[in-house]
Amino acid sequence: MNQSDIHPKITPIYQTSVFKFEDLDAVQQYFDEPGSRYMYSRQGNPNSDELANAVSRWEGGVGAVATGSGMAAIFAALLTYCQAGDHVLCSADIYGGSAALLNTELSRLGITVSYVPFDELYDLKPYIQNTTKLLLCETMSNPLLRVVDLRRIAGECQQHGLKLVVDNTFSTPVLTRPLAYGADLVLHSVTKYLAGHSDVTAGVVVARVAEDAARLSQIGTVFGLTLSPMESWLSVRGLKTMRLRVAAHSDNAWLVAEFLDEHPAVEAVYYPGLPTHPQHGLALAQGGGRFGGMLSFRLPDDAAAVNAFMRRSQRFPFAPSLAGVDSSCSHPLYTSHRALTDAQRAELGITVGLVRLSVGIEPVEELLADLAQALDFSSQ
Ligand SMILES: *Cc1c(COP(=O)(O)O)cnc(C)c1O
Repeated sequence: MNQSDIHPKITPIYQTSVFKFEDLDAVQQYFDEPGSRYMYSRQGNPNSDELANAVSRWEGGVGAVATGSGMAAIFAALLTYCQAGDHVLCSADIYGGSAALLNTELSRLGITVSYVPFDELYDLKPYIQNTTKLLLCETMSNPLLRVVDLRRIAGECQQHGLKLVVDNTFSTPVLTRPLAYGADLVLHSVTKYLAGHSDVTAGVVVARVAEDAARLSQIGTVFGLTLSPMESWLSVRGLKTMRLRVAAHSDNAWLVAEFLDEHPAVEAVYYPGLPTHPQHGLALAQGGGRFGGMLSFRLPDDAAAVNAFMRRSQRFPFAPSLAGVDSSCSHPLYTSHRALTDAQRAELGITVGLVRLSVGIEPVEELLADLAQALDFSSQ
């Protein structure tokens, strides 16, 4: 059979590092008509383009680059607007890896950072220098699930001529699309809900305007941040069920949050879906009525209590990542927020008793039964 007579329904995995050209005319066409052919997979591959385009559509952008990890996505996003001598603002409630990138690596390259406490995000003036280029924040923060008012923060950034870069990993575009509120770039750790099965490491950055999309593509190619065909293919496959998965994650997490909220061994629950959450109203409006699959809760500040819970739970294995279809738990103090100073941890309330759950899509009765027995400290 002729290759051109094969019509797969699903895009095949183009597991190739390079593409062939018939002659000089063909290679000239590659340069004259951008997007007409592929040449070298670091610069573009059908699978990574399929992923980038699918996420760009979801987020309402004009273009995107798929990256080798969420960290590579953050790096690419920051480099889109910054060079040596520039200054960035970052929400104090931020992924530990983002803080590490800014504090230890970008600072060496001459890009400095100031952290803005959650309550001061809507009045940036005291933090702005004349070299400040952008603000980086998350739609919903880790581990306390604080929700940022994107419309308000985009207005504040516009007023001061700053770009707004939003890490939308916890929310997904199923809940919230930051570009529609005025963000300039939105990024994801695709590793989490977009791929969704805890079997891929990947990232993506989506741009609202074409000029930024072109910068992203250049940065991805030249720094070698782009994603492999196989990981792209797996991510595309995951993305097809994202809408259903996020609905199921959200429904389950809401019931788990209510259960924990009433449990005598639990001192506090952090979930935007609870009416007692400080940004519940905002989360309701900005999330289209759903609140995602992530929550944290507080046990007594005693490692023995946390260990007892972790050892007894069967359905929430301690695995420091999130957003897979199977539930898991993590511990901010011992993993993601280890690098924070004591003062930062005290300010955020990250103590030994704080446990974070990634609620999966299993039958919720099984999750609730597991939590009930894992938290029954009286029967030890
Ligand atoms: C996991 C995560 C990242 C980093 O993504 P990787 O794929 O691990 O590189 C960035 N931001 C948030 C909010 C995350 O949860």
